[in-house]
Amino acid sequence: MKLAKRMSSFAPSATMAIGALVNEKRNEGKDIIGFSAGEPDFDVPDFAKEAAIKAIREGKNKYTPVGGHDVLKDAIINHIKKETGISYTKKEVMVSLGGKHSLYNISQVLFEEGDEVIIFAPYWVSYPDQIKLAGGKPVIINCAGENGFNPDPDEITAKITEKTKGIILNSPSNPSGGVFTDAVVRKIADLVVKHNLVLISDEIYDKIVYDGVKPLAPITISEEVRKRTLLVNGFSKTFSMTGWRLGYTLGPQDIISAMVKIQGQSTSNPVTPMQFGAAEALCDFSFLSERVETFRERRDIMVKAMNLLDGVESVSPKGAFYLFPDFSKWIGKTVDGERIDNSLKLTELLIEKALIAPVPGSAFGMENHLRFSYAMDTERLKEGLVRLADFAKRMS
Ligand SMILES: *Cc1c(COP(=O)(O)O)cnc(C)c1O
Repeated sequence: MKLAKRMSSFAPSATMAIGALVNEKRNEGKDIIGFSAGEPDFDVPDFAKEAAIKAIREGKNKYTPVGGHDVLKDAIINHIKKETGISYTKKEVMVSLGGKHSLYNISQVLFEEGDEVIIFAPYWVSYPDQIKLAGGKPVIINCAGENGFNPDPDEITAKITEKTKGIILNSPSNPSGGVFTDAVVRKIADLVVKHNLVLISDEIYDKIVYDGVKPLAPITISEEVRKRTLLVNGFSKTFSMTGWRLGYTLGPQDIISAMVKIQGQSTSNPVTPMQFGAAEALCDFSFLSERVETFRERRDIMVKAMNLLDGVESVSPKGAFYLFPDFSKWIGKTVDGERIDNSLKLTELLIEKALIAPVPGSAFGMENHLRFSYAMDTERLKEGLVRLADFAKRMS
């Protein structure tokens, strides 16, 4: 059967081939240490589980309004008010089936043929394809590791054209763990107001930050900025609820109601009992500090080990649970006679010869890097780093 034209506008996920190779090796009985997890290795906190179970027992098992139950919307509004001092109404918030779904809805209601959307590389894998699927064109700005993966503000100004419709910000970032400085966020916000753009702020890692860093939330800069901002967040990373599929958007009422319209013709409401569990979760973050501390310890172990490797450079990221070291100096070398051509080849060789599986930087629009997730058992992580060091010794 001939598929619709839109299916050729975007590529299958580059991480799929890697996943298949890892599975193949595991089926052969090889013990591969995966550094590719995009979700916390912790479980959902018990009090939130109990709230969802209670909701099921109490019969909260039917449809809710498309954009989410008032109980969850109120919990989100209260949470944002507490965090930022800014008030939203229920018509300015909606819940979707994960932050990814929120972002998908946003692309669908805002972007079309001829629109340009600025994103920062290394970028989260879904941004370019969601934009393209809507007919828009991703315009990419590279962020250098030595600046903590911050963009050059002048380059942002230079990339804005009359076709620019929006900018997507993701701080802390997946895959780099980088946090944009307040100055960069303010600069982006200024440009958004000046050129009347929409700012999509994906703040899914806002609670997973280190060293006392607090990312600047664009909505707090000014009312002019808030009016043009879609704040996206969710429950997957903070509450380890990846399988619950819940995310949310706060923003201008006209955009939110368009998103509800599209969600109403696709998925309808997010899963009902999970909404009650999530509403409860937003009332208590006290479980989180211990988890963040565990992540920080692992980050420090990883950064130290990476920088001990000849030719590898890694900054110490201020957020999320990923490291995105620079392996440029390994490109062109050989292992057992096989040449390391690029980040994908390096990943394949690491899986085959070192039995560790990171994700190639090419998947995130930045060659010569690898993404290592540290959302994994600390002892396994250390064993994986030993394997990486052994691999380095075999290189010539
Ligand atoms: C994980 C993630 C999301 C959303 O995940 P959901 O499980 O769909 O809520 C969004 N943006 C980034 C950058 C992420 O890493």
